[in-house]
Amino acid sequence: MSNQTKIVRTRYAPSPTGLFHIGGARTALFNYLFAKANNGIFIVRIENTDVERNVENGIDSQINNLKWLKIFPDESYINPGLYGPYIQSEKFDVYEKYAEKLLDENKAYRCFCTPEELDAERKKRLSKGETPKYSKKCRHLTEQEINNKIKKNIPFSIRLKLEENKNYEWEDLIRGKIIFNTESMSDPVILKSNKIATYNFAVVIDDYDMQISHVLRGEEHISNTPYQLAIKEALGFDNDIKFGHLSVIVDETGKKLSKRNIELKQFIEDYRNMGFPEAAITNFLCLLGWSRKDNKEIFPLIEASKEFSLEQLSSSPTFFDFNKMLWVSSQYFKEMDDSKYLSFVKDFVSYDNEIISKNKDECLLVFKNQISYAKELDSLLEETFSNKEITRKEIIDSKLFENKEIINSLELLLKKLTSLKKWTIEEIQNTLKEVQSKSVLKGKDFFKPIRFASSSKEHGPELFKIIYLIGKDIVIKNITSVLSEIKRWEYEG
Ligand code: GLU
Repeated sequence: MSNQTKIVRTRYAPSPTGLFHIGGARTALFNYLFAKANNGIFIVRIENTDVERNVENGIDSQINNLKWLKIFPDESYINPGLYGPYIQSEKFDVYEKYAEKLLDENKAYRCFCTPEELDAERKKRLSKGETPKYSKKCRHLTEQEINNKIKKNIPFSIRLKLEENKNYEWEDLIRGKIIFNTESMSDPVILKSNKIATYNFAVVIDDYDMQISHVLRGEEHISNTPYQLAIKEALGFDNDIKFGHLSVIVDETGKKLSKRNIELKQFIEDYRNMGFPEAAITNFLCLLGWSRKDNKEIFPLIEASKEFSLEQLSSSPTFFDFNKMLWVSSQYFKEMDDSKYLSFVKDFVSYDNEIISKNKDECLLVFKNQISYAKELDSLLEETFSNKEITRKEIIDSKLFENKEIINSLELLLKKLTSLKKWTIEEIQNTLKEVQSKSVLKGKDFFKPIRFASSSKEHGPELFKIIYLIGKDIVIKNITSVLSEIKRWEYEG
């Protein structure tokens, strides 16, 4: 059946055991891009067989954030296609039937071992330095022993019988040939004692039912693949399915990103709440293990979906570089047109005062070329427009007014600004130019003290805009008070 079709069908198959994570988002994105680059179909399937570990808002977090990132599935439980159900909890009976079929065909067996027995066995093997695999004890039970246990209602799981010393191998799309021998594998449980399929079992059936052609997933699944191949073989599925295991994402110490490291923002929700544009996030995610032939680093999703190819995927660890993320995002703000920028950032800003409320849009726009996420704006607005008094200590500590020349410039600036008829950005800019042309001071030596005296800051966006926004009264008051502090200080020696 499915091996006759050439259509590329990929899937992102999250388990809702936590919030939508950076690693999961990258897996989703790469499957989406690969499907789109090949005119294929991208599927989202919810893998919720691990009922004890599922978290309440796990599914919503995945679905809502995928939507926010504009990684839209062609098929999912919300927009089902012909190959559903797209959520595993609606398919438990299907998996159970397949498990029973394998039992009937003698390809699987009931395992009555208790979790305690299995744990003790595992520990014993580990202490001897052996691979902790199941002893296959129950594989050798007689029919009578099995029937007795069933009569006594002893719970059992179902395990697949692996052939001895058999190789399972595949040509990994990213890593080349990978081989596992069954000597290092355990007979896998396919149906748990609560009659719910295990992850490995359900995945094989779903990938077959959904006619998945390519699986791109995290490298932590490499060791699952031989089990899935064995299950597929036992079920007699003839679908051709290719696997590619993506690079591991590591932090600056070279360790795999751990969800427990709360310092590092790892959930898409975090970035969304901080006010990163979603296009910046998907752009950044693209760079986690994929590089374009032309090495371009800033590009929209639509471009990525045309360019994406497996050849440029790397198998070596990918560093999760938060500074790079900030840089990528700042490029997106720079490129936004003003009205889009304003409507995007406004929801994130809460700081306000009289200066800001008079010219809210302009106050926000001065930081457009500077920010990486919208929540940064609150502290920038406060820093720039809080209009705090400049103290004498600050003036002295700044060491900006030691040169007599700057006093002359400040006095001239004060005079000119006071007599300005129109308080416009242009007039202010011209005034600054004129005052500067009359000063021997250049560049920083001129602008830093002027900025400090007029706005109480040493750094910030274009000075003429800041002077304009702070407003005539306050700027004049600031310069006057700095000048008189300097004079008093000189007098007092
Ligand atoms: N449900 C698995 C996970 O969340 C993914 C399985 C797969 O891609 O095969 O890790």
